[in-house]
Amino acid sequence: MAPTSGPGSRGSEDPGGSGGSGGSGGSPGVRDVAVVPGAPVAFKAACPDCRARFELDAGALRLVIGVSRRTTFYSFTCPECGIQVRKPAGERIVELLTGGGVSTLRSV
Ligand SMILES: [Zn+2]
Repeated sequence: MAPTSGPGSRGSEDPGGSGGSGGSGGSPGVRDVAVVPGAPVAFKAACPDCRARFELDAGALRLVIGVSRRTTFYSFTCPECGIQVRKPAGERIVELLTGGGVSTLRSV
């Protein structure tokens, strides 16, 4: 197959630069957490108290979904200092955690 347009330059030019395609959609090398069904998922978290950074699997996290955003949060126990950390969970985080197999509680 011959390239449709290419006066000399070969390879690393982007042919479709027409306007507002400034997204991170569908490119290989996404940096989001990939959730593979059946595989253990590691969630990156950080402790606000001792500032340790670690990865937690789904079993170490709990997600609580309340009736409002204020009562929707996720929690985990810091493996470094042992405190229980609570952080507000937005919609994306809720999706990510539930998709990753984190046990979800519904606060009534
Ligand atoms: Zn800590």
